[in-house]
Amino acid sequence: MRLSRYFLPVLKETPAEAQIVSHRYMLRAGMIKQASAGIYSWLPLGFKVLRKIEDIIHEEQQRAGHIPMLMPTLQSADLWRESGRYDDYGEEMLRIRDRHDRDILYTPTAEELITDIFRAHVSSYRDLPLTMYQIQWKFRDEIRPRFGIMRGREFYMKDGYNFDLTKADAMHAYNRHLVSYLRTYERMGLQAIPMRADSGPIGGDDTHEFLVLAETGESEVFFDNAITELKIGDREIDYGDKAQCQAVLEEFTSRYARTDETHDEALFNEIPEERRRSARGIEVGQIFYFGTKYSEPMGATVQDADGNDVAVHMGSHGIGVSRLLGAIIEASHDGKGIIWPEGVTPFHAGIVNLRQGDAGTDAASERLEAALIERGLDPLYDDTEERPGAKFATMDLIGLPWRITVGPRDLAQGVVELASRRTGESERLSVDAAVDRVAQIYGA
Ligand code: ATP
Ligand code: MG
Repeated sequence: MRLSRYFLPVLKETPAEAQIVSHRYMLRAGMIKQASAGIYSWLPLGFKVLRKIEDIIHEEQQRAGHIPMLMPTLQSADLWRESGRYDDYGEEMLRIRDRHDRDILYTPTAEELITDIFRAHVSSYRDLPLTMYQIQWKFRDEIRPRFGIMRGREFYMKDGYNFDLTKADAMHAYNRHLVSYLRTYERMGLQAIPMRADSGPIGGDDTHEFLVLAETGESEVFFDNAITELKIGDREIDYGDKAQCQAVLEEFTSRYARTDETHDEALFNEIPEERRRSARGIEVGQIFYFGTKYSEPMGATVQDADGNDVAVHMGSHGIGVSRLLGAIIEASHDGKGIIWPEGVTPFHAGIVNLRQGDAGTDAASERLEAALIERGLDPLYDDTEERPGAKFATMDLIGLPWRITVGPRDLAQGVVELASRRTGESERLSVDAAVDRVAQIYGA
């Protein structure tokens, strides 16, 4: 992409309404624009990162055997009356009346609708297990939308739902989600710690929230610091292997880690003092097992092997897709701007031409751009007439992990400069070697 033809409305001033760094940088980098309270347009740069995050989630969900689908944002109130949640959900649910005086709502979550789909089409235990998921916009009329997309009213969420014959099978689905979520967050360069939590309006007993530690987080958390050393890494996971998934769950949840809703001071104090931590965190996901809470009132039953009708065991599993952008920035930035982890960066590398219009630097920049594209990469080439200082400031602000600077003095010696946004370290390489290095970093 050529910056001169892109839409990147960066701001020099810090917007006064932004209280936390991720909100400030998302506004300054031209990623989002508020449309009304808690509702945002996703400008091209923000949209690109949102798509990257979404792609990782799709890959990891499908790796775990979960099936993608899509449900509407507007739903009939009647379904929600069947589960009793139309009245229970409270003020956060946006209720609308259509021209025929029918009650509809903008979905805050989709247990009812998926249960309705299930009961219409599945009647035998032979069709189980089944887990389907979507990535779709949700609306919750938050009393205090704030921190930009971190606590929006309209937000993008991955929500998955499992249907199983027995509680044991449903717990395997729960474990699969826990493992796949850990992998998902790690691929985004994040450490998200599973913590025992409270189930809220979704209901049920077994639930974990995934928290990214950050001073600006809205949740108060308590944990044994030993948990921060755990990593999924590149170990092979067989999602069909119940014992393996259970073992990973135990590995990641046996240490004390709780949000304030479930915090138990006496248990906490059993942790050796030097490992005891209380901190703040950003909730980026939550998984639930709630048994037959929806299947029973809504008649979602299957015939088991003995011919008896039984209500299916269910769970639901959410990831805050749009909130993740904020969480990643809170976890990865410096005084100059965002530092994107390679897994989610909007462009793989930035090319800065220090003397636009100079035949030599133009040709070398174009050669770099073409060669990177040839390798399947997506560079952002700053081909504008801005001063070098302004070009560097923009690149630092938008946080591309790698920058290649093309200047006349270096070119005279046959080199360009490849710099890491994270460390600030740079080296001088030929154009070909710089392309090889960037391709190697991305496994391209
Ligand atoms: P919170 O406690 O932050 O209000 P929640 O527990 O009500 O969230 P869930 O029902 O668990 O939310 O939704 C799944 C995920 O969606 C959450 O883990 C969070 O990352 C994200 N999410 C929830 N509410 C919002 C919001 N208002 N804006 C952005 N993301 C949100
Ligand atoms: Mg939650």
